[in-house]
Amino acid sequence: MRARRCSLGGMKRPSLLSVPGPRIEPERVPARPPAAVPGGAVPTPGFLEPESHIPELRRALLDWFAAAGRPLPWRQRYTPYEVWISEVMLQQTQMERGVAYFRRWMERFPDVATLAAASEEDVLRAWEGLGYYSRARNLHKAARRIMEEEGGVFPAAPESIRALPGVGPYTAAAIASIAFKQPIACVDANVERVVSRLFDVDSPVRQEPAASAIREWAQRLLPPEQAREHNQAMMELGALICGKKARCEICPLERFCTARRLGIVHERPVPGRKTPVVPLNVASGVLFCRGKVFVQRRLNTGAWARLWEFPGGRVEDGESPAEAAVREYREETGFIVRVRQEYGVIRHGYTTFRVTLHCFSLELEDESAATLRDAENRPLPEVLTAATDCRWLAPEELTGIALPAAHRKLADMLFGAGQARLPGL
Ligand code: SF4
Repeated sequence: MRARRCSLGGMKRPSLLSVPGPRIEPERVPARPPAAVPGGAVPTPGFLEPESHIPELRRALLDWFAAAGRPLPWRQRYTPYEVWISEVMLQQTQMERGVAYFRRWMERFPDVATLAAASEEDVLRAWEGLGYYSRARNLHKAARRIMEEEGGVFPAAPESIRALPGVGPYTAAAIASIAFKQPIACVDANVERVVSRLFDVDSPVRQEPAASAIREWAQRLLPPEQAREHNQAMMELGALICGKKARCEICPLERFCTARRLGIVHERPVPGRKTPVVPLNVASGVLFCRGKVFVQRRLNTGAWARLWEFPGGRVEDGESPAEAAVREYREETGFIVRVRQEYGVIRHGYTTFRVTLHCFSLELEDESAATLRDAENRPLPEVLTAATDCRWLAPEELTGIALPAAHRKLADMLFGAGQARLPGL
């Protein structure tokens, strides 16, 4: 590990990562003498070495949370179901948006039994716009398992929570501590940031040895009897005060913060390697036939599995977006279509992809060529190569199916909502 050179005195200061992990119960942490400051300089007046003042640090944090914590809807009753849904929903989602989705979800699926009994289509539709649809599918699967194997009672044991579909270490810790008050520290990106600054963790926080060190410090900070409040307080502090732009001047932990004392807050946490953004140039078209539009249901695996979509795909080298839309229809459905109108471009970010979606209005070259037809005599594909099902829908029926975000934008652009809608609206 790199030993960072401290600005005070220019001597090497040992990284706190070299401090062995906690071997003692958090409430019995003995006071250690403050860490040596390079060059023998006097610490900042009022500074309290965090590792030696854990009880005071906890108290300052809990007092702040009691006064400043947000009254979020899942903080009223702390039912395991509500905590679980909120934790899964809030991953990669801004709080305001997450709260809106949470309220609608609870109206629609107020408990595990209702969620288990719902169709996958309803669950995906309620999730639409949050992305990462495997999360919604896993919530659905887990609800069914709780009904079938746990008698409808949410399991409390950490290993049972962890065994539910889609529940990783963070979500299991959050449910166990926040819903069941078990003394397990939660480490999300907010906690990583706060801990890395408090203890001056000087290597990339998602890699070893920093990742283990942060988990150990987070666990050591946790007061066993107040796990629910403490874990939420740490995450709340990271969200409201100790963000990317830290507001140290109003931080309740300022006097315990090593990075603040050293003037290196902006250098913590140390980032890892950035995942490169991949541009994706794709084309899709809305195929019209006598007042209805064609949609297909994606395959059971891969991105957006089992969501509905307008057929389309990547624009190949040497091909125009319009040519790509026509080719994709031919390859995926066998339909021979032509472009009626170009709608424009929708840009959309998806994980590490930057998607540019070229959108068209399409019509069939020859309606009479098809041998398969629906009940209203519209052509049906002889074969679907990238889908498991297809339908002709009236535009207003598009609100009832789950579409990937870019396709929802296209549907809204064409059929009137003007902006991506939340489920149930
Ligand atoms: S003092 Fe600043 S860097 Fe330290 S925990 Fe508070 S907000 Fe974060």
